[in-house]
Amino acid sequence: MSATTATPATGRLVLLNPGPVNVHEDVRAAMASPDQCHREPEAAALMTRVREKATRVSGGDDTDTSVLLAGSGTAALEAAFSSIVPADGRILILDNGNYGERLWRIVDVHGIPHRRMEFGWCNPIDVDAVDRALSEDPGITHVGLVHHETSTGMLNPLREIGAVVAKHGRQFAVDAISSLGSERLDLRADHIDWCVGTANKCLEGLPGVSFVTAPRQRLEELEDVPARTFYLDLYGHFISQDRKNAPLFTPALQVMTALEQAIDRSLAEGVEGRAARYTALAEQIRTGLAERGVRFLLPAEQRANSVTNVYVPEGMTYDELHDGLKAEGYVVYSTQEQLEGVFRVANMGQLDGDDIAGFLAAFDRVVAKYADRGV
Ligand SMILES: *Cc1c(COP(=O)(O)O)cnc(C)c1O
Repeated sequence: MSATTATPATGRLVLLNPGPVNVHEDVRAAMASPDQCHREPEAAALMTRVREKATRVSGGDDTDTSVLLAGSGTAALEAAFSSIVPADGRILILDNGNYGERLWRIVDVHGIPHRRMEFGWCNPIDVDAVDRALSEDPGITHVGLVHHETSTGMLNPLREIGAVVAKHGRQFAVDAISSLGSERLDLRADHIDWCVGTANKCLEGLPGVSFVTAPRQRLEELEDVPARTFYLDLYGHFISQDRKNAPLFTPALQVMTALEQAIDRSLAEGVEGRAARYTALAEQIRTGLAERGVRFLLPAEQRANSVTNVYVPEGMTYDELHDGLKAEGYVVYSTQEQLEGVFRVANMGQLDGDDIAGFLAAFDRVVAKYADRGV
C-alpha cells in the first residue's frame, strides 16, 4: 500500500476513541471459545480466575476480591454506588466532568443521601476543599471520585484524595474505569474501599463485563445494607459468586474469556510498562498536533496518559473532521456536551507508532481539504 492510500496499512479501523479499543488478536480469538453452560464447573473456574486477576490488576491481595457484572462499565458503577451507602449514610460526590456528573446521577436516581461538589469541567479537584467538607460534615460516610475524568482527559489526584478520605475515616469509592491498567492505582496505597473497572478500556478487553473490587470485609458488611436494585445488587452478586461459586444471573462468558486473556496481557506488561507505552503514544499525538498548531484543552501536567482533548481546527466542524478521518480509517471522538468544538484522540488499546503517524497524515489531508474550500 502506498503512503497515500485511504486505509491504514493494517486494513483495520484504528480506534482513537476512549474505548472500546483495538484488541490483541489473542483477545479476539478468545471470544470464539467453545459453547458452554454457565452453571458448570468450568464456568465457575473461569469466573474465579477472572475475579482473582481483576483483583490483582487493581493492586489487591487475598484480603480483597472482585465481583463481576455483565454489562458495560456503568453496570458496575451503578452496582457499587447504589449498594454501598446505608440508609443512614451519605456520599460526597466529587464532580469535575461528565463522569463525575454520572456518579451524581446514579446516587440521585436511587434516592441515596448525597452531597455533590461541583468543581466545573476542566477544573482540578480542590483537595483542601474536600478536606474541609469532610471536617465540617461528619454525616458524610462515603466519597466518590472519578480517577481519570475521560470527558476532559484529566487525571484526578487519587492518592491525595484517598489520603484525605482515610484521614477522616470515610469510605472511598473510585470510578477507575478509564485508568485501571495504565495509570498508577493501588487499592492499599490509595486507600480505596470500592474500585470500579471495566474490560474494554485500558485493560484492552472487549465490552460486556465490568467489575467492582473491594476488601472482602467491606463486601461482607453490605449484608446490613438493604438492596436498592434487583439486578445490580452488589451484595447479592458477591454472595453468589463467592460463597456459592456460581453467577447470580447469566454471565457474559465469552467476553469474560476474552477478558482473562486481556488481563493476562495486562499483568505481563505491568501497569508501568503499559503506562510507558501509552505515554509514548500520547506524546507522539501531542507533539504531532502541537506542530500542526492545534490548541489543547488542558495543560500538559493535568492530562492522563490515554486521552488528549484538542480544539477542532478553524474552518471546519467536528463532523467534517470526524467523517474525513473515518473515511481514512481513523475514529476520533467528540467531547461531551459542555465542550463543543473540542474532540478527543485516545491512545488506549493495541496501537503503535505507525497508527499515530498514519492518523497525523490523515489529519493533514482532511484539514487541507477544508483549508482549500475556505479560499
Ligand atoms: C467509559 C467510562 C464509564 C462507563 O461507560 P460505559 O459506556 O458504561 O462503558 C464510566 N466512567 C468513566 C470514567 C468512563 O471513562
